[in-house]
Amino acid sequence: MRIHSVLVTLAALGFTQPVPGADAPKRPNIVVIFSDDHAYQAISAYGNPLKLIETPNIDRLATAGVRFDRCLVPNSICGPSRATLLTGKYSHINGFYNNTNSRFDGSQTTFPKLLQKAGYQTALVGKWHLVSQPTGFDYWHILPGQGVYYNPLMARNGLLVRHEGYATDLITDFSLEWLKNRDASKPFLLMCQHKAPHREWCPAIRHLGHDKDRKYPEPDTLFDDYAGRGVAEHTQDMTIARTMTDIDLKLKPPGNLTPDQKKQWDAYYEPRNQAFREAKLEGKDLVRWKYNRYLHDYLGCLKAVDESVGKVLDYLDREGLAENTVVIYASDQGFYLGEHGWFDKRWIFEESLRTPLLVRWPGVAKAGSTTRDIVSILDIAPTFLEAAGVHIPAEVQGKSLIPILKGQTPDDWRKSFYYHYYEHPGPHSVRRHYGVVTDRYKLVHFYEPGGGYWELFDLKTDPKELTSVYGKAEYAATQTELTNELTRLRKDLKVPDPDPPETAIAPAKKATVPKKEPAKP
Ligand code: CA
Repeated sequence: MRIHSVLVTLAALGFTQPVPGADAPKRPNIVVIFSDDHAYQAISAYGNPLKLIETPNIDRLATAGVRFDRCLVPNSICGPSRATLLTGKYSHINGFYNNTNSRFDGSQTTFPKLLQKAGYQTALVGKWHLVSQPTGFDYWHILPGQGVYYNPLMARNGLLVRHEGYATDLITDFSLEWLKNRDASKPFLLMCQHKAPHREWCPAIRHLGHDKDRKYPEPDTLFDDYAGRGVAEHTQDMTIARTMTDIDLKLKPPGNLTPDQKKQWDAYYEPRNQAFREAKLEGKDLVRWKYNRYLHDYLGCLKAVDESVGKVLDYLDREGLAENTVVIYASDQGFYLGEHGWFDKRWIFEESLRTPLLVRWPGVAKAGSTTRDIVSILDIAPTFLEAAGVHIPAEVQGKSLIPILKGQTPDDWRKSFYYHYYEHPGPHSVRRHYGVVTDRYKLVHFYEPGGGYWELFDLKTDPKELTSVYGKAEYAATQTELTNELTRLRKDLKVPDPDPPETAIAPAKKATVPKKEPAKP
């Protein structure tokens, strides 16, 4: 063949093909382990004083890599955060604003597409949650919509397949299977995206008896009365006390268990549910019971996630891939574990705004280090593009984390961060708001027509964000400074004012995966 002959001739003349050779930097493999609603309070490497859980495998990434203590999300909710991860852009640029009626425009540029174009093999397994079909992946095997924990239906490159087993285990197995069957001559990107520990927090059957009826320590704001804050905090619908359903609390079983799974489910929950019904708890005792059931189930889900991380890391070790593979562990946002009486996310406030981020990259990331630099899920895409030697498009709004990983934060690194939440009216009734966050302060504007107001929090004197100091004389200068910074950020980031019409909440559109189930795999 003609092309082949030319290559042979060039080789004979001492020229090499234009792919990384012995003297070119070796492009790293990339593994993204991305969970759904994993609170940093529930990762032992993050050091929660309540000591809720041990996560030895996730902690391996902290020991061998960098722990980011202020990784912030631009819009604290599942779909929007996933769209930001892929694009490195805010919701108002990538077009995915909310989980109710947004649909990801798969024709836009994403980092997996750019890596694929640069010769990477790309795969996505697990939770997708962006409504349209994935683009930029050679292989994808996803849960439709939110998916279910037990015996889930999954779409494999577009075809629906029913699997028996537990979602976290299946996502791990399919990820490893793809790694084993990949073309070993090319670098790879694997995105292993768990459904867990998302609501309704259903643990693997083998983990139902974990923690042995432990009584969990409580956050000291479990019975917050929202004094010192405005109407949004008072009118939300995300409290453990009022919002949790019988399905959330496992007073009713999920509908899709096999008979054997149902038997084991009942053997664990039924005697405990019976005792609960007989106790006829009220008031704070009832909230405490709900809190303990919630924590048991939420942390139970994380047992399987931690095992999954262990399996992936062990595989990389066994195959000799660990040295040239960047591994990150992150969640799409933070989550409340009873702080302020809440579960869920959505707010600009700390437990919701901050997401865990751990990065292991031998030879680049300084092992065992931590940083309080303000970073974001926005920064993941440009980091991987730089790692792969791919040009970062100018319109990407995040910045590569590589200097920070090396312990060399640039002088002009961001000192403030813009946040914007849009899903209102909507589930959990958290009002629309935007704001600016710095190392010490947070200025927030709840801007609903007819009920708009501002809040200002000083995290140094009020780390739990209990009392707004907006309008207080002693904060006047700070308030002006932050207001100016917020204006600057909105202008620089091209935030439209008012919110564009597509942010209006209309009935959700259905996912486009084919309805027909094919023959057995
Ligand atoms: Ca989420």
